[in-house]
Amino acid sequence: MFSPEAARLRVAELRAAIAEHDRRYYQLDRPSISDAEYDELMRELRAIEARFPAVVTADSPTQRVGGAATALFAPVAHAAPMLSLDNAFSREDLIAWAGKLERGAVGAIDYVCELKIDGLAISLVFEHGAFVRGATRGDGRVGEDVTANLATIADIPARLRGPGVPPLLEVRGEVYLPISTFERLNRELAARGGKPLVNPRNAAAGSLRQKDAAVTAGRGLRLWCYGVGAPGEATAGQRATRHSEDLARLRALGLPVNPTIEAAASLAEVVAFVDKWHRQRHQVDYPIDGIVIKVDRYDQRRELGATSRAPRWAIAYKYPPEEKTTRVLRIAVNTGRTGRVTPYVELEPVVVGGVTVSSATLHNESEIRRKDVREDDTVIVRRAGDVIPEVVGPVLEKRPPGSRPWPFPRECPDCRAMLVRKGDEADWRCPNKKDCPAQGARWLFHFGSPDAMDIEHLGEQTITLLMERGWVTDPSDLYRLDEQSLAALPGFGERSARNLLAALAASKDRPLARLLVGLSIHRVGTHVAQLLARRFASIAALAAASLEELETVEGVGPEIAGAVHEWFRASENLELVERLGQAGLRMRDETPATSPSILPLQGRIVVITGTLAGFGRDEAAAAAESAGARVTSSVSKKTSFLVAGAEPGSKLSKAQSLGIEVIDEAEFVHRLRRS
Ligand code: NAD
Repeated sequence: MFSPEAARLRVAELRAAIAEHDRRYYQLDRPSISDAEYDELMRELRAIEARFPAVVTADSPTQRVGGAATALFAPVAHAAPMLSLDNAFSREDLIAWAGKLERGAVGAIDYVCELKIDGLAISLVFEHGAFVRGATRGDGRVGEDVTANLATIADIPARLRGPGVPPLLEVRGEVYLPISTFERLNRELAARGGKPLVNPRNAAAGSLRQKDAAVTAGRGLRLWCYGVGAPGEATAGQRATRHSEDLARLRALGLPVNPTIEAAASLAEVVAFVDKWHRQRHQVDYPIDGIVIKVDRYDQRRELGATSRAPRWAIAYKYPPEEKTTRVLRIAVNTGRTGRVTPYVELEPVVVGGVTVSSATLHNESEIRRKDVREDDTVIVRRAGDVIPEVVGPVLEKRPPGSRPWPFPRECPDCRAMLVRKGDEADWRCPNKKDCPAQGARWLFHFGSPDAMDIEHLGEQTITLLMERGWVTDPSDLYRLDEQSLAALPGFGERSARNLLAALAASKDRPLARLLVGLSIHRVGTHVAQLLARRFASIAALAAASLEELETVEGVGPEIAGAVHEWFRASENLELVERLGQAGLRMRDETPATSPSILPLQGRIVVITGTLAGFGRDEAAAAAESAGARVTSSVSKKTSFLVAGAEPGSKLSKAQSLGIEVIDEAEFVHRLRRS
């Protein structure tokens, strides 16, 4: 396994990745990996920390509650911390957890089993029966004040009812979006040409954390309550001694408590509940991602206590990702911008976990061999709660007679070059970096994309034209284009030529991190590029860095360091860097790089139309620009989103016809503020 030094590096790498996923999940409500993959990163981190306790720090994600309160709302300090839950991924995990409790000092245990609602945790404070404050979990100690937004949810009473209302009550619960509402919102979005919401959980979080409570009101959020902040608090007189008593009190006070909650007197009963709900989890109209099992008696809970991250008296049993079967129509490969050749399957469309899946990646040849997926096979497709579908494998009983293993192509589908594979790598690559049209076009498109050099007017069609004429084979050629030749291109003319040249000139001044992203170095995405730019500040210093120096950058592990080091050892790459320098690109940061992740709209191209209530048009543009966006006057394929105020003009229909996301003013304000 690892040496302590390698463990330290891997831990830093995992923590950096988890921090980025946390930011996307908790603050942007827009995850880029599935929960199952995220849980896998956490499991790996936990395993290394268990083996090398010296690397554990108080700020490790294994030791604290994920997420942080944003500046969008006023901060609220929770009276008692809002913790996360430890996870069980298998029956064995569950048995081990219960075994530890039952062998411990607390004696026989009564459990309470609850559905794990997949929404976001909130705290509600009632004073003398009146709802006075509601907050998100934030980092567990300080959350965001979302009282006005929560007050729009019909499930939350403005006043508690009945006799025995306690003077102070803090209720904990989960705000969620019903599945039927999620599907309706997505249908409406699709009709308006917007991007679909990823999943009900993120849609719920995004809907609740709106600056304008009227927007929240229109989203149809619901609530289930599952506990109190301080044990026994739900009773005005004698305090309850069990969680189940408090739940009954909450119900009597008029709060929504899920009717499926059951007591379990033994682990066998817990397992029966887990199994029953695994089978019937789709019979309810709210998303559930598992079962929460809790110790019922408060005296036992006190005895067991909590870690800084989660109570020891509860555990979340997570259901495995959802699966469906469908037929493989075709298997093919795609050549990406780094030359990597990726096989994928085209599938007969199938709805998995609420989303239609019609294709899925198979990653590489050994994955195809290992899974032995063939054309015409019936396969199991899995979607892990989020966006990314995966082919689990074929259903062998349904394989048609005479079927053969799929032959992995030996040639690039685009340029017919013989594919190559380095000794220990899993991927086949097209080596034809210079002339492969697919590779070159995808690289150039990526070079000009908002996350990289952000070059307006450099669309796919333009790139194809430039490549067909042989004017451009790598990014440095872009900076040698001249107005006269460009103006003569079909569909161009002087104005388009000048626009493209101006955009190219503007891109020369981009920060180093963006150039590094644009160079398409294996394993270097936005986050790693920022780490490298911050440390080395110039491309010359980065190119000269030794492997050891690269490995000491916090968040850069041996694999990334190796890839960067190798890239700067290839003569064609050094020549490219040289040519880019000669073309006048900045190649260094004068001041420390501004992290694109700091500005909420960094890299976004925004168009504003119609009248906004809270801003003049110029003010809105200035606000978007100071949040890092580029504001343009017309909608194109590159537009990230359109802000539509009252009486929008033709830009709205243009955006809809191009499938560009359209947002209202409240959402715009929300996006301006979150970072
Ligand atoms: P968690 O979701 O595993 O469990 C804790 C939460 O469960 C509570 O805060 C509460 O909101 C909720 N809950 C639902 N029903 C409940 C009930 N009946 N009783 C008590 N709590 C209940 O933990 P977390 O810290 O909120 O989030 C971590 C998880 O979020 C990860 O395991 C992962 O699945 C997901 N995540 C994914 C990404 C990503 O990029 N995909 C990033 C960060 C987190």
